Amino acid sequence: MARSLVSVRQISRLQPLEDSAFLLAHVDGWTCAMKQGTAKVGDYILFFEIDSFLPVEDHRFLSLGRSNASNGNLILWNGRYGFHVKSTKQQGTVVSQGLIMPLNIFPEIAKVVAELKEANDTEDALQKLMGIPFENHLKVLKWEQGTAAVKVTKKDDSLGKPPTFFPKTDINRVQNCPNLFTKKYKDAVFQESVKLDGSAATIYFVCRDTAWYESLPALDGRADMPQGRFGVCSRKLDLPDKPDCLFWKTALHYRLPQKLSALGKNLAISGELCGASIGQNREGFATGKHDFFVYRIFDIDAHAVLGPRETEQRAKQLGLKHVPVNGYYRLHDIAASREGLLQRAEGVGMFGKPREGLVYKNVNDGRCFKVISNAYLVENGE
Ligand code: ATP
Ligand code: MN
Repeated sequence: MARSLVSVRQISRLQPLEDSAFLLAHVDGWTCAMKQGTAKVGDYILFFEIDSFLPVEDHRFLSLGRSNASNGNLILWNGRYGFHVKSTKQQGTVVSQGLIMPLNIFPEIAKVVAELKEANDTEDALQKLMGIPFENHLKVLKWEQGTAAVKVTKKDDSLGKPPTFFPKTDINRVQNCPNLFTKKYKDAVFQESVKLDGSAATIYFVCRDTAWYESLPALDGRADMPQGRFGVCSRKLDLPDKPDCLFWKTALHYRLPQKLSALGKNLAISGELCGASIGQNREGFATGKHDFFVYRIFDIDAHAVLGPRETEQRAKQLGLKHVPVNGYYRLHDIAASREGLLQRAEGVGMFGKPREGLVYKNVNDGRCFKVISNAYLVENGE
């Protein structure tokens, strides 16, 4: 499921916060501080997830953003002033995440509601409304850390966007998965892996004489092989083969052009590139060290991800490391609720530093969700 940053949701519960003008509102799996009087239990509100960036060129954000406890200060980001919605502690302990605004100040949403109501009965209209991502309507952006692993300044540092024949590697947050602790998932088994905090990379190979190969622009050099085309992408870009590109260096170190062309399959292998010079090096790699950890293998022809066990095996066969796997569990055996998973997410990563969190992958369909450690979010101002 695509992530939506801004959506209409319903308040399920309100809790007082002592000596405060704020209440704690429960919205799906989220807990969010909200100014008293903004909304009641059962009300539909507009919810902005953490990592929303609200530009204050829209004055509704200027006036309302400031009055919300979980919203921090005005910042300058990518040349614009706005609010970065993040996780904050309330009264030293309770974590508040996101931002709640009443619906009635957004005529653009009222318009959508009116259209939906015309075409559906009220219940259907509400369900549909809650499925609509509103970030584009409101010009809300996804905030991202300023320090990218590869700083792309010149045009020849990129071949454009990654090919469209494999999907992005975004993962939904546990807070947005309402059914995990219902009967539906009673016996479902998930792989639990540690979420590494580096940079997403996808390495692909497509054979000659396929539509995939034809869809790519012609290239010289190592990318164009007798058997097909080899490519290396960061999250956002298809990267050219350059001596100082860490993504390419890693792929060549593992001899992936040779191995994948010998395999002769149309595959996209995604993993986390972590290391001393990547991002904030939150895993704590030693100076000069970096490595690549597979978390997804996508079969381009079948248009499907391999199951988690097969992904582990294939990575091994290719001589690649896999992200650390804690085990395979029935969710209902390791936790009683999403809160229990959030507690499990707290812990240390590969080298003993506080970890970003955990990722759970369903063994049946490979679908996954992430559980980010609240301690990590608060610590890193996200
Ligand atoms: P950001 O884009 O700021 O790094 P994020 O890592 O949470 O945020 P998401 O797209 O929500 O981004 O999460 C999925 C990403 O998590 C993947 O693209 C991958 O880079 C990374 N990742 C790290 N460890 C794992 C893991 N064990 N399993 C799956 N994905 C992982
Ligand atoms: Mn990440």
